[in-house]
Amino acid sequence: MATVINGKEIAANIRSEIAKETEDLKKEKGIIPGLAVVLVGEDPASKVYVGMKEKACIESGFHSKEHKLSAETSEEELIALIKSLNADDKIHGILVQLPLPDHINETRVLETVSPSKDVDGFHPYNVGCLLVGKPSFQPCTPYGIIKMLEQIGIEIEGKEAVVVGRSNIVGKPIALMLLQKNATVTVCHSRTKNLKEKVKSADIVIAAVGKPEMIKGDWIKPGAVVIDVGVNRVGDKKLVGDVEFEAASKVASAITPVPGGVGPMTITMLLYNTLYSAKQKAGIC
Ligand code: NDP
Repeated sequence: MATVINGKEIAANIRSEIAKETEDLKKEKGIIPGLAVVLVGEDPASKVYVGMKEKACIESGFHSKEHKLSAETSEEELIALIKSLNADDKIHGILVQLPLPDHINETRVLETVSPSKDVDGFHPYNVGCLLVGKPSFQPCTPYGIIKMLEQIGIEIEGKEAVVVGRSNIVGKPIALMLLQKNATVTVCHSRTKNLKEKVKSADIVIAAVGKPEMIKGDWIKPGAVVIDVGVNRVGDKKLVGDVEFEAASKVASAITPVPGGVGPMTITMLLYNTLYSAKQKAGIC
């Protein structure tokens, strides 16, 4: 039976280190890490995520500023707000909650966020840094996966890693991060042929598709490590991942559950990146 990777516990440990470092930064340099979260419109899931981010900031001792804008906000108004946050010394990280309403050009908005406050790691400058291996803000979900693998002592170097999904926020960046750590990486997507065979060859499987239990237990190589990023609601309440958890956990050596696996790491890495930004401002990293 696979070890079930406890993302909640790993995240809680990292968060307590973040809270401690935040306290020290306050005492030694008088700096409080500040995160601005911008929400446009009334999307219920986005409201929940923004609430969770604010709560996490408060628990870590951060200064948190929420900007809730109506769905009718124009692109120019949103861009003006981001420019003012770029210039605000109390703010070290800016997060624009996605998706944005259809009348707003997401790319233009994300490119307005100063790369030095882009704690989501979505600005093309930071994406480019990730590509060439230069230190930068790394997107929170894939960065959380790497931290998680490191914390539980999974060796990445020399492993065959198969990433299913090629989105800009999960699939592509995790593939680059694994490559950086010397894995041999295969990226699969909706046009990939023989997906089952590809997954079967993997020592590390990253599933980021968004299709409930699409990756079957008998696709997993015995002893593989399975990281399930997918969050899919089935029926009224139940959340499942992209991997058939019960069957896969009989074959894998370690596997993340859904919920309680990758999810808690994402907000944790947002805090981590914001603290890093504040430390950079203080000239200590
Ligand atoms: P996207 O919808 O942006 O990307 C999905 C990817 O899956 C695409 O690259 C798509 O391929 C690929 N895909 C779709 N169908 C298949 C198929 N049949 N076979 C192989 N590949 C397929 O999703 P995200 O990357 O944003 O998110 C993926 C999942 O992770 C979602 O469930 C999301 O909710 C979850 N998530 C969880 C987070 C967390 O914190 N736990 C954070 C972010 C996401 P193609 O490019 O060809 O269309």
